[in-house]
Amino acid sequence: MSNRPLLIRATSELAARFWPKVRRAGLNECWEWQGKRSNKGYGVFWFNGRVLRANRVAVALACGSIADAFALHRCNNPSCCNPVHLYIGGPRANILQCVNDGRYVKHGCRGEDSGKAKLTEVDVQEIHRLYAAGETQRVIARKFCISKSQVGAIIRGEQWKHLTAMTNSSLFT
Ligand SMILES: [Zn+2]
Repeated sequence: MSNRPLLIRATSELAARFWPKVRRAGLNECWEWQGKRSNKGYGVFWFNGRVLRANRVAVALACGSIADAFALHRCNNPSCCNPVHLYIGGPRANILQCVNDGRYVKHGCRGEDSGKAKLTEVDVQEIHRLYAAGETQRVIARKFCISKSQVGAIIRGEQWKHLTAMTNSSLFT
């Protein structure tokens, strides 16, 4: 496994090549990779001369791109490509883990910071993923130390347009 994840950008060509190799099932079920697998069970996908991890491609197609981050499994099934079963981690994985289990609210989010938190692209991708997975805007706002109206603006695409345009496109159908 490379320590430096490759940048993967969603394109219609990538989507057209990728999704036929995934056995897509219900929203809560694992979507098994049908192609080659690594010796650890991760899906391996060849695209334009590059070897990509299938789970990272799934996140890139759901979120628009993935760069300096890993696509981690909630379901402990390395071959799964269901974006709902994946979450984004990386150099800041400890912080993200903290966010995921709610401790960030306790230690990282003081009242005067609320609504001013700076979001990274990884955060925005995670906000879209959580919302798509059924999390409420109120809970997402608390996790990221932003206001509920900011969460709404991100989800509606009024902020971070370049990311949400990809999420709402036909790439994830
Ligand atoms: Zn799964």
